[in-house]
Amino acid sequence: MSATLASLLSELDPSLNMMMVERLSNVAAESTDAWNNAGTGHAGYCELNYTPMDTDGSIDIKRALAINASFEVSLQFWSSLVENNTLPAPQNFINATPHLSFVWGDTDVDFLRKRHAQLKAHHLFSDMEFSEDASQLKTWMPLIMQQREANQKVAATRVSYGSDVNFGALTRHLVKHLETHNNFQLSLNTEVKNLKQLDNGRWQVTLKDLNTHKTTIVEAGFVFLGAGGGALHLLQKSGIPESLGYGGFPVSGQWLVCNNPEVIKQHSSKVYGKAALGAPPMSVPHLDTRVIDGKPALLFGPYAGFTTKFLKQGSYWDLFKSIKPNNIKSMLGVGYHNMDLTRYLIVEALQTHSERVATLRQFFPQAIEADWQLQSAGQRVQIIKKCADKGGKLEFGTEIVSAQDGTIAALLGASPGASVSVQAMINVIERCFSTQLKSSAWQQKMKALVPSYGESLIENARLLKTVRQHTLKTLNLM
Ligand SMILES: Cc1cc2nc3c(=O)[nH]c(=O)nc-3n(C[C@H](O)[C@H](O)[C@H](O)COP(=O)(O)OP(=O)(O)OC[C@H]3O[C@@H](n4cnc5c(N)ncnc54)[C@H](O)[C@@H]3O)c2cc1C
Repeated sequence: MSATLASLLSELDPSLNMMMVERLSNVAAESTDAWNNAGTGHAGYCELNYTPMDTDGSIDIKRALAINASFEVSLQFWSSLVENNTLPAPQNFINATPHLSFVWGDTDVDFLRKRHAQLKAHHLFSDMEFSEDASQLKTWMPLIMQQREANQKVAATRVSYGSDVNFGALTRHLVKHLETHNNFQLSLNTEVKNLKQLDNGRWQVTLKDLNTHKTTIVEAGFVFLGAGGGALHLLQKSGIPESLGYGGFPVSGQWLVCNNPEVIKQHSSKVYGKAALGAPPMSVPHLDTRVIDGKPALLFGPYAGFTTKFLKQGSYWDLFKSIKPNNIKSMLGVGYHNMDLTRYLIVEALQTHSERVATLRQFFPQAIEADWQLQSAGQRVQIIKKCADKGGKLEFGTEIVSAQDGTIAALLGASPGASVSVQAMINVIERCFSTQLKSSAWQQKMKALVPSYGESLIENARLLKTVRQHTLKTLNLM
């Protein structure tokens, strides 16, 4: 997120002085690293939780449309950066990987058929295919259809130009380019310890060098808290009134990673299923082809779990340290009303290898335990907010919290995540650099970076066609 914001700002005004502070010895080693997230370019093509069914049986596609349009913004920005040589050839960070949704049983097949009909009628999803035909499904996902019971009712949808994104590689390339500028400084092994706003509105930021334990203070006119799971603590330290009431609910993740090259080469798509009853939306199971550092990989998961850490390389005290007088009511409210979720996460965390492979067999019936190893994914800190009737509510999205004076902003939450980083960071710029953004220079540059900027891809079918044709070609996603 921080690398995206810095890249946008540096394109809009190359004279800006920027400092990026990272507590680890490399950037993008937390959630953004390829092994810590699923690398799905979330576009609403395969994620069934973006199209919930209402109580009257109708399907709400609004969220899928919004996420698809946001992902198109990311694709446009990355295309522009490939074209101006800021980013290397696209296969270094993004690869075409068909996105499929796969369901079984009468109820879910009916749901998928209805979802497909509704989505396909919209220009954003007009290329989505649907099939209940076993021979067609075998060509789309051979591993999943292999030796499946002939009488099981199954169906799938497919969008051929879905993508697998190595967000870690993308971020490291962005930062490598930023480092070629004299007015950009990257401080690794350095932790942000405190923030204080001065009377003149600027921010005094206390940094600690984690190698020498030395403390330094820097001053900035604008601060972005793009610290992933660490953002809540820093937002609380800022003391801005907008931070009051926010809390965090950490959810950890694990994958089964395939170690058999013969199996890996038989699957070449991202196949998303339906979340189990009571499961949080981000634990929708999926069998994913990945391309990590040029090599194909096959992952299944994520299996959610409960932990009190806010960062993978964080502390078990993170959750407890985030409890403050101003958010205790929201935290207790969420704790009380979400006991089922906590119980679900604990049961998930205590599963044996055989139990995890049994879940995998719903997707890949021939899976052998010895071919799969468990690996930890990143942490997601879900947002807890004040709520009048329940004290607090749990949200599974992403939210930008910014001060009224526009001098500081933070990004909380983790879904749909890195895929919509460009739209999220444009929103930060709209809130915190509104005067500069009104200038014709910034407007022109923004249009050059994101040609659809200022227009709606949900409303404008012709514009969507033009930008999509261009980005799919530039990023080799056709
Ligand atoms: C299991 C899982 C699967 C996911 N799958 C997908 C997916 O398929 N597609 C998708 O788009 N998104 C996905 N996401 C979400 C995505 O990974 C995140 O939204 C995104 O990577 C967050 O980026 P970030 O820059 O906000 O945070 P991070 O990548 O976590 O970066 C924050 C950085 O801040 C540093 N930091 C924290 N505190 C401090 C401090 N005090 N001082 C200095 N540095 C600090 C951390 O060390 C870290 O490097 C997934 C996430 C998880 C956990």
